[in-house]
This record gives sequence, structure tokens and C-alpha cells, in this order.
Amino acid sequence: MIIVLRPDASQEDLKYIIDRAEKLGLTPHISQGTERTIIGLIGSEDGLRAIPLEAFPGVEKVIPILAPYKLVSREFKKENTVIPINDHLTIGGNKVVVMAGPCAIENEALLLEIGEKVKAAGASILRAGAYKPRTSPYAFQGLGVEGLKILSRVSKKLNIPTITEVMDPRDVEIVAQHTDILQVGARNMQNFNLLKEVGSTKKPVLLKRGLSSTIKELLMSAEYVMASGNHNVMLCERGIRTFEEMTRNTFDVSAIPVIKQLSHLPVIADPSHAAGVWSYVAPLSKAALAAGTDGLIIEVHTKPAEALSDGAQSLLPERLVELMQDLKKIAHAIGRDI
Ligand code: PEP
Ligand code: MN
Repeated sequence: MIIVLRPDASQEDLKYIIDRAEKLGLTPHISQGTERTIIGLIGSEDGLRAIPLEAFPGVEKVIPILAPYKLVSREFKKENTVIPINDHLTIGGNKVVVMAGPCAIENEALLLEIGEKVKAAGASILRAGAYKPRTSPYAFQGLGVEGLKILSRVSKKLNIPTITEVMDPRDVEIVAQHTDILQVGARNMQNFNLLKEVGSTKKPVLLKRGLSSTIKELLMSAEYVMASGNHNVMLCERGIRTFEEMTRNTFDVSAIPVIKQLSHLPVIADPSHAAGVWSYVAPLSKAALAAGTDGLIIEVHTKPAEALSDGAQSLLPERLVELMQDLKKIAHAIGRDI
């Protein structure tokens, strides 16, 4: 249920509705737009039906939300969500944000070297994993807490914000202490305990689409994070599993406009995990930008052949430089900055 307040509604009107809703066991979520305040009431609507909400002071209209995702929906919030990362950087506005870096944190010197290069190329966020969800238990699993410490030292040295994956609800607190954005990986998109845990923090969350998940399931998972209190969620298209074997996954470019239409949350595209091959990363990045993505997350390594994970899909830094030049042209053609 969505309650749209009149432009002249007072703080008392708002408080009255919140109090009545809470007494009925509903959780109110407030969206303060530029013109209107909207209240999303989450919970069983049985008790609400008997109450003439339209007659409450300050209420303009009451709209039932038919989609199973509520807070995530465009109905709840008409304007695009713009997520502040630091004093200079937001995600979801006109500027398209590039996150780049190695798949995994391997050692400090290497992360520093790659971080310097991606920053110089124009990336504004450094990506790197300390906890790696590997198909084989014998493959490199990431440096764990040691990796997190390296990440935050490099972030400070280079003055660049970071994103890193958290796989386990027990690690959310420590990962949140060392990074600016929490990444929930494709394999954990429906780890509901993890979603609730990241939802209880104030850190922005990048939620990746599951390997075989529908867009609706992705939106429902984002709803878990938002319903837990954290509204700073970004949705990531990273390719889905299909019958095609020429690429690691199939990049679902249509997910970008579909999500942008259904939801107010920013969309980030990951061409690296979609492609699995470095030479497809540039064309997929360009397609994603043309389709309306708010950001890209791209794997970059100075020695892809020696990378401990995902070397085959990692761009050399000089290729990121070239790609950024092409992306600039597309961004300008569609009225965006990069
Ligand atoms: C990653 O970003 O390195 C990663 C493991 O991504 P995904 O969860 O999309 O496979
Ligand atoms: Mn990877």
C-alpha cells in the first residue's frame, strides 16, 4: 500500500499516519520526493482495509502496489535513487560510474599498481575481492581479513572508494568496516540471511543477479535489503546461464531497461563475468551504456595470464583507457557524463 501525501501535508499529518500504521503492525517506509512525500506501508494489509485512509489529513491518494516488490518499485518512488558514496561521488545520477580492478586481492603491491592504473584511466571506484566464491574448493579462496586490510590501505593511499564482496552474514560487520560498498555476489542473491544482514547496515549494497535468476527474483531480493532498512541498493546485471557456450554467461542487455522501468534503483552492468573473455568486455560495456546502465564494474589486471582468478576476462589497464574513450563518446551521445 502506498499513501501519497498532498504537497501541503504537515509533519503532524505524516506522524499521525505513521503512528496509526505502526499500531496495526505495519512498517512505514518514507520516500521524500522533490514534490511529494510517499509512505510505503509494508505488512499485512488486512487491518488497513477497514480504515478510511483517504480521509486522513494530508492524504491525497492511496494506491495498492500490485507487484510483489514494493519499496523497490517505481510506484513507491518515482525519481531515480541517487546513492551517495562520498562527498564527491554519487551513483544513479547523470554521471555513469566505472568500478574497475582485479577479481581478487592478491597482494598489496599488485592492488596498488592496478588501483593506480584504473584510477588514471577514469574509474572512480576500485573493485577487488577478499572472499572469493569459487566453484572448486581447491581454487584460490581469497585473502580474507588480510585482503580487507590491504584494500582499505590501498583505498586510503590512492584516495579512491572501494567495493568488495561479502559472502557470509558473520563477515558483514568486518567487511563494512573496510569498504565503501558491499557486494552480494550472484551465488548469494537468494541468501536471505545475508540480505537481511547487509540490509541492517548503512553501507550501499551492490546486489548481483543470480546465475539463473529472473529479474523479478532479483527485485524481490533487493526488497529484502530495503525492507531491512537499507535503501541504498544497486542492481547488477552480470549475465545469466543459458544454452549458449561461447561466452561464460549470456549478457541480458534487456534487463537494463526493464529494471529501470520497474524500479527506481541504479543499475550496474558487469560485462566481465557475462563475457568470460576479455575481448568481449568492451562491446558489452558499450551496449550496456547505450541501454541505460548507471555504472559498469569491470575486471582489470596488469598480468592477466598470472591472475589467481578470472584472468581470461580481465582487461589490461591500457585496454580500459581505450574503452573509456569510446564510452565517453556514447555517454555524450545519450546526454550523460562519464
Ligand atoms: C566477482 O565480482 O568477482 C564475482 C564473483 O561476481 P559474480 O558474483 O557475478 O560471479
Ligand atoms: Mn571475478
